[in-house]
Amino acid sequence: MTKFRRIEDAGDLSGKIALVRVDFNLPMDGDRVTDDTRLRAALDTVNALRSQNAKTVLIAHFGRPKGQIVPELSLKPIAHAFSEVLGDPVFFAEDCGFGPKTRAFIDSRLDGEVILLENIRFHAGEEKNDPSMAAEMAKLGDLYVNDAFSAAHRAHVSTVGLADHLPAYAGKSMQRELEALNAALGSPERPVLAVVGGAKVSSKIDLLKNLVSKVDALAIGGGMANTFLAARGYSVGKSLCEHDLADTARRIETNAKVAGCEIILPSDVVVAKEFAANAPHRICALDEVAGDEMILDAGPQSVANLAAIMDRAKTLVWNGPLGAFEMTPFDTATVAAAQAAATRCKSGQLIAVAGGGDTVAALNHAAAAKDFTFISTAGGAFLEWMEGKALPGVDALKH
Ligand code: AMP
Repeated sequence: MTKFRRIEDAGDLSGKIALVRVDFNLPMDGDRVTDDTRLRAALDTVNALRSQNAKTVLIAHFGRPKGQIVPELSLKPIAHAFSEVLGDPVFFAEDCGFGPKTRAFIDSRLDGEVILLENIRFHAGEEKNDPSMAAEMAKLGDLYVNDAFSAAHRAHVSTVGLADHLPAYAGKSMQRELEALNAALGSPERPVLAVVGGAKVSSKIDLLKNLVSKVDALAIGGGMANTFLAARGYSVGKSLCEHDLADTARRIETNAKVAGCEIILPSDVVVAKEFAANAPHRICALDEVAGDEMILDAGPQSVANLAAIMDRAKTLVWNGPLGAFEMTPFDTATVAAAQAAATRCKSGQLIAVAGGGDTVAALNHAAAAKDFTFISTAGGAFLEWMEGKALPGVDALKH
C-alpha cells in the first residue's frame, strides 16, 4: 500500500502549531449550515491534536472568491458552527492575512486551542500554488496536516505548497479515505466488481479505461449503457445516447477483453415515451425498444444478474446511478442494486466503496449508504482517483 505519513508519526506535538487543511466548503443557507457532515469529519483530527496539547490552525476554502475578499464567502459563520460541533471555542483569525499579524494572533492563543483562518481562496496565490505564499504561510506553524481528501486533486498552497516547507501528515479523515480507496482498487480482495452508471460516457472515458485494467468485472448502467448497447448494434430509440462514441465504447470492450475484465450491460430495460416521473413505462428485452421510446432504467433481470455477480465478488467499487433515479419509478434498479450491495456488506461478504456526488445522493435515497464499507463525499478527487490519476495533495504526504 502507498505509504503516507500519519499524525502518529509526528512525535511529541505538545506546544506545537499544526496547520490543518480541512474541507469546510459546506452547504449553507445564509449563515446557517444545512449539513454539518464535513464539520464532524474534522473532529477526529482536531481532537487528536488537542489531546496532545498542540495548537490547531484550520485552513479551509469556501466557494469561489477567485483571489478577492468577498465578505459573503467569509468563514466566520463556519467558525461558529464548528465551535458548536466541537463543544469548545474556535477562534477566528478575522483579517485573512497569513503574515506576522496572524502569527501574533496564533501566539496569543493557548496550547490545545483551535483557530480558523479566513477563506484561503481570498488570496490569489492559493490556487496558483504560489511558492512565496507557501513559504510565508508555512511560518505560521510547525507542521502541516491535510485532512481534505476532496481537495487533494488540486495543487494549491494549502494542499501541496505547505508540504514543501513543513513536515506533512495525513489527517484522520484523509487516512480513512486513503485506506478505503486502497482496499477497493489499490490492493483489493478479488474478484473486484465495478459498477459505473450515470448520464454520459464522454465524462467517464478515462475512468472506464482505467477500471477495465484493474477490475474483474465492470457493470455499466444508466445513460452510459445506452451508448454501449447502441455500439453493440441495438436500437435504443430516443434514449440518451452518444452515438458518436460508438467506436470508443467498442475500444473499451476490446481492452476489457484483453485485460480479462468482463463487461456487464443490462439484459433488460425499462422504457418510457416521456422523460418524467411516473411516465407510463414498460419492461422489455434489449431488441424490443421502439423508435419513440427511451431507456430510463435497467430491468429486473439485469438487477438479479448484478446481485448474482455481487455474490461472487469480494470487493465492489461504485460510481453513478443505473437509471434516471431522481424520478420514480426509474430509481428501481439503482435502489435494488444498492440494497443488494448493502446487504452483502452487512453480512461481511463484500467490501463496498462508493463515491461521487450523484452516487452519494442515490445511495442515501436507497437507505443503503450506512451499510457500505466507505462512502466518499469527495466529487472530483474521487473520480480522478477512479481514473487512476495521481492526486497532488496525496503525493505531497508521501515526501
Ligand atoms: P453522472 O453525473 O454522470 O453520474 O450522471 C447522473 C445522472 O444520470 C442522473 O441525473 C441520472 O438521472 C442520469 N441518468 C441515469 N440513467 C439515465 C438514463 N437512462 N437516461 C437519462 N438520464 C439518465
